[in-house]
Amino acid sequence: MNRITIAIDGYSSCGKSTLAKQLAKKLGYSYIDSGAMYRAVALWCLENNAIEKGVPDNGKIISSLDNIKIEFHFHPEIQSSQTYLNGRNIEKEIRGMAVSEIVSKISSIKEVRQKMIALQRKFGEDKGVVMDGRDIGSVVFPNAELKLFMTADPAIRAKRRYDELKAKGTEVSLEEIVENLRLRDHEDTTRKENPLIQAADAVVLDNSNLTPEEQFEIALRLANEPITLSSN
Ligand code: C5P
Repeated sequence: MNRITIAIDGYSSCGKSTLAKQLAKKLGYSYIDSGAMYRAVALWCLENNAIEKGVPDNGKIISSLDNIKIEFHFHPEIQSSQTYLNGRNIEKEIRGMAVSEIVSKISSIKEVRQKMIALQRKFGEDKGVVMDGRDIGSVVFPNAELKLFMTADPAIRAKRRYDELKAKGTEVSLEEIVENLRLRDHEDTTRKENPLIQAADAVVLDNSNLTPEEQFEIALRLANEPITLSSN
């Protein structure tokens, strides 16, 4: 069976990672969370005084990029891939509000994007990968065999994210989440460098009224189509 590249892009908290993980598991592919990479750089910035009063020190960040090592390690005991920054598991820290509030500013820095994109291409060079993010189908893998563009009603997205963070014990209000998603969507779609756009050949998946199971079935069917075609 030919292995393909699956690119999943879309707005914040649309369920991209849930779908990407399900597809990767079912197809035996690797899963790369490109947002986690930008979040890792944002955490590094917070921990290394590279942000003052919410404003990134671009010079310091760019000159430090070689000292920021990002890896993913699969943990079989929890069946999940964890993000590492310079050898330390940071999976939990990068999901908190402190990182969410700064990450879009960090991801708009051209040099940061260049470094992350090079790494993402390396992670996906052997195909058999599902990668989710904002520019995967448009920039990172423009030749991906399957591109999905996910969207959902903003109020539904905020509620899902709120429930998810609450379940993890994070102290946060629904209003904070609504505002954070609004700001990130704005920053991600209007930035100069590789803004979030729908690739011309992407299939749009609006999951406002879909269960995760229904969404998975649709995506799996699409993933199997190019495999069938290309293996003929
Ligand atoms: O996917 P997630 O919400 O974790 O991504 C966090 C942030 O990383 C996004 O809001 C966006 O600013 C940035 N990002 C990006 N390009 C990607 C993935 C994420 O700019 N491919």
